Amino acid sequence: MKKLGLVRDIDLALHLPLRYEDETRLTPIGTLTEGDTAQVEGELRDSRVEHSRTRRHLVARVRDGSGDLVLRWLNFYPSQLKQLSPGRRVRVRGEVRGGFLGLEIVHPVLKVVAPGAALPTTLTPVYPASAQLPQAYLRKAVESALRRAVLDELLPTDALPPGLPSLRQAVLALHHPAPGVDMASLEDRTHPAWQRLKFDELLRQQLSQAFAQAERAQLAAPPLQPRGADHLRARLAAALPFALTAAQQRVVAEIERDLALAKPMHRLLQGDVGSGKTVVAALAAATTISAGWQCALMAPTEILAEQHFRKLIDWLEPLGVRVAWLTGSRKGRARQAMVEAVGSGEAALVVGTHAVIQDDVHFARLGLAVVDEQHRFGVEQRLALRAKLGAQRAEGAQAAQGLDVGRSAALEPHLLMMSATPIPRTLAMTYFADLDISTLDELPPGRTPVVTKVFADDKRPQVIARIRDELARGAGRQVYWVCPLIEESDRVEGAASPAHPAGDARVMAPGNGRRPPLDLQNATDTHAELSAALPGTMVGLLHGRMPAAEKAAVMSLFTQGQMRVLVATTVIEVGVDVPAASLMVIEHAERFGLAQLHQLRGRVGRGTEASVCVLLYTSPLSPTAKERLRALAETTDGFEIARRDLEIRGPGEFMGARQSGDALLRFADLATDAALLAHARELAPRLLRESPAAAAQHVARWLGSRADYLKA
Ligand code: ADP
Ligand code: MG
Repeated sequence: MKKLGLVRDIDLALHLPLRYEDETRLTPIGTLTEGDTAQVEGELRDSRVEHSRTRRHLVARVRDGSGDLVLRWLNFYPSQLKQLSPGRRVRVRGEVRGGFLGLEIVHPVLKVVAPGAALPTTLTPVYPASAQLPQAYLRKAVESALRRAVLDELLPTDALPPGLPSLRQAVLALHHPAPGVDMASLEDRTHPAWQRLKFDELLRQQLSQAFAQAERAQLAAPPLQPRGADHLRARLAAALPFALTAAQQRVVAEIERDLALAKPMHRLLQGDVGSGKTVVAALAAATTISAGWQCALMAPTEILAEQHFRKLIDWLEPLGVRVAWLTGSRKGRARQAMVEAVGSGEAALVVGTHAVIQDDVHFARLGLAVVDEQHRFGVEQRLALRAKLGAQRAEGAQAAQGLDVGRSAALEPHLLMMSATPIPRTLAMTYFADLDISTLDELPPGRTPVVTKVFADDKRPQVIARIRDELARGAGRQVYWVCPLIEESDRVEGAASPAHPAGDARVMAPGNGRRPPLDLQNATDTHAELSAALPGTMVGLLHGRMPAAEKAAVMSLFTQGQMRVLVATTVIEVGVDVPAASLMVIEHAERFGLAQLHQLRGRVGRGTEASVCVLLYTSPLSPTAKERLRALAETTDGFEIARRDLEIRGPGEFMGARQSGDALLRFADLATDAALLAHARELAPRLLRESPAAAAQHVARWLGSRADYLKA
């Protein structure tokens, strides 16, 4: 129960049924017809194990005076046979179907009853449960929790949407609907009792956001403004090889305005792939550093972190900034030296993966934390980052009490998150109400949109010929060939591969005697195939299981242009930036999610050359896969793609928070409950003003121990 978050009585009271079973009525066996779901009661006549050629069945008969019904179990324990001794009175439920011996129920729900035992008077709830938590146990637990749970009204009744019952009425009605209730309205959750629960949930969500905002307003951050006339920030801007787009100038100004304030920035920079977020982060870093503070930049994969590192070194080291670099694969003395440079403040900028926030890393004066591709970090990692930032503050407070008063006394760093996946408006209003958003809505000049083509994989030879042509057209052209990451379990079902946080995160222990995982096999085969088909061309291979140094070497050959074709798994998915790459082939494109395909495609079209993305698929295509590929061919607009993605996948997935689905809305649905949401948005500020204690109680009632996830 704890795993399901069912700890307090109120948790159980708010654990609402998925559906109901009608055990209030008995159907005479003689009136049953095929396809009915029904409950019958009668006497067991005989029971035995039947042997067919291939398997054993447990078979029994029940008779009620109007007829006979066969009960059949395909899987059973020997002890079950004893339970079915003839003469016993049983109540059985299930779907009736036509069998060889007449009507039968396969795997009925069966209960031994005393003659004349009363029937339930309300529908029987079926709760979300788990394999280790049987329905019957959960039902009893909910039943007794309902007797104790405090369900009194916390909200002003005049402020509720009209026509909704009290919370207590709603909860009781949903756990035990009266027999005559309109089942359809329970199922599609339009019943007023459901509306009430959804409304309370949405209100809870709005209030949580308001509390988080208020909590943050209490925190102090260092105001970061460049010092001196010829400061780093100005020198970096002058040294850039290009002029900022108008959109970049606007968001840089928004960020710098926040940084100059004495309260922590909490800002998301969203901009489509290739819109130039990195340089915005670099300018924010320069501002931070020239104000005398440190900046940390985190990326979800080593490859991306490494690429940022190179770019930032190029930009900042000539200006005298010491850049440190921390990733999981950097160990021993090298790591120790970096950790020390961070702790002494000597390294003004620290770039890396989530290794940057590990326990032994202490910043001297962290002023700004930048999280790139923040949606690719798991909830756990985002929580760890927040904890780290909090710890930073505590350390600062301690230092201030001692001698070293000049340190970051109790100050919280500013936080800049970056993402290529824009947040749809409804989500921005709910989950991210506590977040300021800057948007890069313009691509750097000179880009031609990527043309996307979709082919069945029998066109593979033509596609390879196309690569040959592309390479022949000039030295400045390069090609990605992307192979999907296939999970062992996918092999059976051939299902779409889920989006992965990062190839690196799934490194398997090498040399454990197993055959290479399929994705590797796939990428290796393709690598061999292309090497043979393109003699005289350097074709590289990149996947998540390669040692970091090898990965870095391959990436560097490709970045410099010596390696012209790169066969890769999804390790290249996020952020990799090689402007000369003008052709991308994605094989088994049907296995990727929409957002992931868009990210991948974003690796081309970064230079001035017209670029092409070829999506190869293997038939047959499922309808949703077809939908995804079509969407991708039709538009290159990341906002439009995010909108369609949300339609296909729903917000839980979108948030990258599947593990903590509890923190998301359980009952309300942003798409269908917009009116309730609007009402909740209106009521939340009023409640906070007029009865803040009730508001806090309302949040606690709904959230309990799950509150932490909201901050991720
Ligand atoms: P993303 O927003 O996807 O992270 P990047 O920051 O990787 O995009 O930028 C994509 C490419 O565009 C990089 O090569 C970068 O140097 C280049 N770039 C960024 N801003 C500009 C600009 N204003 N003019 C020209 N090129 C730019
Ligand atoms: Mg990027």
